[in-house]
Amino acid sequence: MSYPSRAIIDHGALAHNFRTLGSSVDAEVMPIVKANAYGHGLAPCVATLQRAGARIIGIAQLAEAIELAAHTRGARPEIFTWIYSPTQLGDIRDASRFGLHLSVPDTWALDAIARAMPDGVEPLRVHLKIDTGMGRGGVLADDAGALIEAALATPGIEVVGLWSHLACADTDSDATARQEEAFAAALARAQAAGAPIRYAHLAASGGALWHPATRHTHVRPGIAIYGIMPDDSDPAAANLRPVMRLEAELTSVKQVPGGTPVSYGHIETVSATTLGIVPLGYADGMDRHASSRAHVTVGGRMCRVVGRICMDQFVVDLGPESDARVGDTAIVWGPGGPSASDWARAAGTIGYEMVARLGPRVPRIHVHQEDV
Ligand SMILES: *Cc1c(COP(=O)(O)O)cnc(C)c1O
Repeated sequence: MSYPSRAIIDHGALAHNFRTLGSSVDAEVMPIVKANAYGHGLAPCVATLQRAGARIIGIAQLAEAIELAAHTRGARPEIFTWIYSPTQLGDIRDASRFGLHLSVPDTWALDAIARAMPDGVEPLRVHLKIDTGMGRGGVLADDAGALIEAALATPGIEVVGLWSHLACADTDSDATARQEEAFAAALARAQAAGAPIRYAHLAASGGALWHPATRHTHVRPGIAIYGIMPDDSDPAAANLRPVMRLEAELTSVKQVPGGTPVSYGHIETVSATTLGIVPLGYADGMDRHASSRAHVTVGGRMCRVVGRICMDQFVVDLGPESDARVGDTAIVWGPGGPSASDWARAAGTIGYEMVARLGPRVPRIHVHQEDV
């Protein structure tokens, strides 16, 4: 079976981005592969990152981490994971069985781990989460001391890490500096309490790219690894390359007379032109807010989306003089076309959302540098 659209995943670019970030920071890179590697395909991306030298990777949901650990044979990187609830006692046991690194976001997690862990197994390695100003997970900085003490007194765990997350790495240096200060204080406290912290991490892509003080022992870049900037600026400026190219074959090309209304609701009427149909829609993650605004390239020419994006397809204006033919390739985003960030701007969102929401129906084609 084949399909009229595909996401081409360039593993040469993925390895290049991992190495570029690694050589630009004085810290180890823990690439983040949550949400199916930001839509790029989990297992192949993990394999490439491991070959490129990743010794630990991060993935958000405990369930995702267990699935990854259960399906990788042979040597794999260490896995750090951080989202779970007190009901997941069986999953916490699996975390221990697979030797995962688990976040402890509050004292309830210490209780859950103490209840879940069977006696006589290797201690579970944990990273204590401090909320230094994100206002999301972790204990407030004032409660860091209490969490550290409680963790050190909990049997069956080994406190190896302390971590936090930046809220404004791409927008506000002062807020970032305040978070870094709170983190450094919590780290000093953990060390003074005798916790052997080998993993101290605060920076995601934004911190890794722009805030050297936040780098500590590890950085956790996600979006930058995939060649998209956290602020949707040009990745080439940071020597990063987009990993995904989303393309589709035109399933229709036809001339229309002036005054032709296009797609649902007739929100737009075109003058005499050639219209093409791209067989991707909002069910595939083509945000409907980008209707009439985003572009694709066909034969190297930028062509605007006309009218509403539908569930499975959208219409583009190929231009009155177009010689495009049905079956020609439209590049939706990635090298040779607009960027995922361009689509995000058209849709009023961020590049992250474009790639992470690319639907499961679109095949991912994994190419390694030599095949490109
Ligand atoms: C998603 C995420 C990251 C990676 O963030 P990017 O901005 O994509 O680099 C790092 N840490 C945590 C806790 C995250 O949730």
